[in-house]
Amino acid sequence: MCSLIDGFYGEEFLHEQKSDISNLNELMCQKCSVEKAEVRLRRKDNYCNGCFLISATHKFRATLGKSKIVRPSDTILVGHNGGAGSTALLNLIKGGMHESVHKRLVFGVKVLYIDDGLIKGQSTEERETKMRKIHEQVEALGFQAYGVSLSDAMDFDNFSVSCLKSMTCSNDEKDKRLSEMWNGLVDETSKKDFQQKLRNKVMMMAAKSLKCQKIFLANDSTSLAIKILSNVSLGRGAQLSSDCGFIDNRYADVVILRPMRDFSRRELYYYLKICNYSFIGEEKLKDNLPFSIQKLTGKFVTNLEDQFSGTVSTIFRTGEKIVVGKGNCKDNTSIEGDCVFCNGCLDTTALGDCTSSIDATNFSKIVSLRSSDAEWNLEKLMEKPRDSTVDMPEHGCEDCTCGRSRLEKNNIKYEDVRQFLCYACQSIFHGNFDLKTLPPFMINSVSERLRLKNIAAEIQDFLL
Ligand SMILES: [Zn+2]
Ligand SMILES: [Zn+2]
Repeated sequence: MCSLIDGFYGEEFLHEQKSDISNLNELMCQKCSVEKAEVRLRRKDNYCNGCFLISATHKFRATLGKSKIVRPSDTILVGHNGGAGSTALLNLIKGGMHESVHKRLVFGVKVLYIDDGLIKGQSTEERETKMRKIHEQVEALGFQAYGVSLSDAMDFDNFSVSCLKSMTCSNDEKDKRLSEMWNGLVDETSKKDFQQKLRNKVMMMAAKSLKCQKIFLANDSTSLAIKILSNVSLGRGAQLSSDCGFIDNRYADVVILRPMRDFSRRELYYYLKICNYSFIGEEKLKDNLPFSIQKLTGKFVTNLEDQFSGTVSTIFRTGEKIVVGKGNCKDNTSIEGDCVFCNGCLDTTALGDCTSSIDATNFSKIVSLRSSDAEWNLEKLMEKPRDSTVDMPEHGCEDCTCGRSRLEKNNIKYEDVRQFLCYACQSIFHGNFDLKTLPPFMINSVSERLRLKNIAAEIQDFLL
């Protein structure tokens, strides 16, 4: 069952591990000084298998225990994609549930698999084979496995979570809509970013539907270091603390936790290998172009880590100290609230009379696009771009039987959507994006906020 296609180490890890072991040369474990060292971490720390496993279990429990956020009455939804991180996480939880009474982990656990094979170009057969494998693996660990498809995000009004055992690929209207939208994204960077954010959204809906109060994600320190640098490059700097920290509480009802954040990718592989746990593997996106910001950052970080073993921890520890200053983002209780796609902080609205860097970028874009007009009239330059036109509706009205889409009924234009998107999500849904392919949850949220804005404006006029 094991295949090492996940992440950035994989086969490289096996190769390095061989050279590590040959370098150990009969060294003793630095912890117990009794057993022969079999694991080398950070190029200098040598442990025997037993001491390594004790420290791995301790690290996991310490990360959970420090925050005191997980309660015995909680039901946790664990995101599992078949990769090394979530396989190790499930095994650590299972191990914790069989400890002696005073050390035992007592919260409830449900496991969720999100099938995103459609956007990875997999056939129905490949997708269903993976579901069966994940189900067998989770069942063998004694947990209940549930499944949803990424395309379920296209219809949150009829969202439901199935038992993974009976789940099949539906190939329905939702799949068609997701494919249409996926094909409208311009580059690999946007696609990767879109995939991650949509997965989080689906997971959040599943947690609510399964009555889970918390979600465990299996991000390790290597992937988080890569994410910190990618986030900054993508313009998601304002969301660093929620995207990469231990706690992500951007959603009102469910909290996301990352209990594997102190494990390096290397430690994960060692843990799985020593315990003889196999993992299924995670398929990568089929790239049309050979690079994306996330992929290049991944290569940069892992190559640097190979030469300077403190790279990952330096980025990781620096990243967790970065927080958004007060007043740099809109309060998420305001009508603008958070981003309608990623629920991250809305970093695009200039506060007070200040001109934001987004205004400067937009101004520069307009100047560049219109330079051939030779009409250097400032007022003209600052005109908003032309709105996307909305053609005939494809989907019926959700409120009545008028037959119009909510998009058309509320006369929603690109600028209306854009004002409720954070900077990075504006790059995903760029100016030429076909609004008809947007997921209904975004359109619903935009129309609701526009309605509230209109009411607020009317009240303001009335008071004046
Ligand atoms: Zn030892
Ligand atoms: Zn966003």
